[in-house]
Amino acid sequence: MYDYLIVGSGLFGAVFAQRAKAAGKNVLVVEKRDHIGGNIFTKDEDGIAVHQYGAHIFHTNDRKVWDYITRFAEFNRYTNSPVANFHGELFSLPFNMYTFHKMWGVVTPKEAAEKIKEQREAAGITEPKNLEEQAISLVGTDIYEKLIKGYTQKQWGRACKDLPAFIIKRLPVRLTFDNNYFNALYQGIPTEGYTKLIENLLEGIEVRLDTDYLDPATKQELDAMAEKVVYTGCIDAYFGQRLGALEYRTLRFETERLEVANYQGNAVVNYTDAETPYTRIIEHKWFTFGKTPEGEETSHTIISREYPAEWKQGDEPYYPVNDEKNSALYAEYKALADEEKKVIFGGRLGQYKYYDMDAVIAEALLAAEKEGI
Ligand code: FAD
Ligand code: UDP
Repeated sequence: MYDYLIVGSGLFGAVFAQRAKAAGKNVLVVEKRDHIGGNIFTKDEDGIAVHQYGAHIFHTNDRKVWDYITRFAEFNRYTNSPVANFHGELFSLPFNMYTFHKMWGVVTPKEAAEKIKEQREAAGITEPKNLEEQAISLVGTDIYEKLIKGYTQKQWGRACKDLPAFIIKRLPVRLTFDNNYFNALYQGIPTEGYTKLIENLLEGIEVRLDTDYLDPATKQELDAMAEKVVYTGCIDAYFGQRLGALEYRTLRFETERLEVANYQGNAVVNYTDAETPYTRIIEHKWFTFGKTPEGEETSHTIISREYPAEWKQGDEPYYPVNDEKNSALYAEYKALADEEKKVIFGGRLGQYKYYDMDAVIAEALLAAEKEGI
């Protein structure tokens, strides 16, 4: 008998498992993929840690989370500063004085603020009700048109008018010359890759790969083996989508090895026009400053183009679509989940929330605390 059966070896599952094991509990982790780590999985390719499921930059303001996670990995000083490419024109991200200077030729913060105000007023927005209005009211119509509209519509497959405002509020807007994509106090990438971080969290814990918990025969057998279940898969899949399917966005990654040392000069370049079919190109080596974990430079590089698409059965569900329709359906599933006394629903898919890694860790630590472990 196990005290906890943990479904999913992503960050939520791994953190909860670590806390449970440390409290002397018997834990079994099952994972349907053939590797641990969920979406933060990195794979070593000749000295380059490839972010197999998209670029992952750890950042947090939460001291407790930072102190906890740095017990399991050393982090480098990587600071995310993506470049936006709009039909070959380059802009700095997030939206800051470098961006405003390039867009309008403004030199002072006062001039930039006036330009934004002028465009917001011309658009007649007082209380932003959706992503488009929120974006224009934060940075004006020029930046919306060149850096937000095309990218967002590709990413979400929906018009900016039909998306919630909070998505764009993830990005800082600054009247300073600061290209740091995050406002977080702590930021970095595990020097030995995220997979090693997960391995360290799961040290001494039994993990069964290639095991789909929702396979009916497997589920019955596994449920009988555990006092409690921590479920980090899709909440609607748990209930057999009996109230209808929640929507997700998926991604297709086209990864290529190139025999050049430097392809784009930055880890992340966003393609913000509507015509380029991908949203971004990741050049993985720059997450570790072009160096292998042993400190050597590589003469090759690995890039991934990221193509967003609507999720269908069989795809990886990367992003919950937190619009009104899906949020209402999620609330119904949440009510069902609350009735499952033996099961804790956690993580991006179990809670259907656009969580970053630090929020997932905080939630897992909280779930463990609530269990008294
Ligand atoms: P997951 O990583 O999805 O793990 C869930 C696990 O459960 C998976 O391994 C899955 O295979 C397994 N599973 C599901 N169903 C079953 C089943 N039935 N049986 C067995 N196993 C099952 N966050 C940041 O902080 N910074 C970033 O830069 C960042 N970039 C991102 C970029 C992309 C493209 C994406 C998609 C996300 C990004 N995130 C980022 C968010 C980050 O990936 C998540 O917050 C975090 O990985 C979520 O962890 P999780 O354990 O909840 O989910
Ligand atoms: N976004 C944009 N242009 C960009 C980068 C981001 O319009 O160049 C918008 C887009 O809607 C995206 C949201 O901002 O979904 C949040 O961006 P973030 O980089 O946080 O997305 P993630 O890394 O989670 O995919």
